[in-house]
Amino acid sequence: MRRSTSSIIRNPRAAIKAGLRYAKALARPMRPALQPSLSIETTNVCNSNCVFCPNESMERPRKPLEQKTFEDAVAQYSRMGGGPLDLTTVIGEPLLDKDLLQRIAYAHQFPNVLQIGFLTTLQHLDRFPIDRLVLSGLSWMTVSTAL
Ligand code: SF4
Repeated sequence: MRRSTSSIIRNPRAAIKAGLRYAKALARPMRPALQPSLSIETTNVCNSNCVFCPNESMERPRKPLEQKTFEDAVAQYSRMGGGPLDLTTVIGEPLLDKDLLQRIAYAHQFPNVLQIGFLTTLQHLDRFPIDRLVLSGLSWMTVSTAL
């Protein structure tokens, strides 16, 4: 902070230019994503501590999402036209959700609910038979190494 303040004092013209560039960027109209997508927090349970994540300070009760709530959300999303489905938000390790396979299978029934996947640290991959996970209707998994 002190460093950037002193660089502004040393070069006010550059600081003003940077400020104008920033203001211009903010004034640009926001474009909606080409295709809407849905992310659902299927569980907020996680025992990791990724560098960017507020998991340790979260005060909400740690529990999985009710299956009925999940199913209602997916069915409603499908009626709205569907699209990609991400079983991650920020907090929660999907592989710690005991209903994970059931959720994927449910969502996979809808032809317009696509690209079902989630972000994971893979630490709990052994909780599910790998063949069942691969054949569940899952399209992708992104592996986080930010532990
Ligand atoms: S795995 Fe996900 S929920 Fe857990 S600490 Fe990392 S980012 Fe947060």
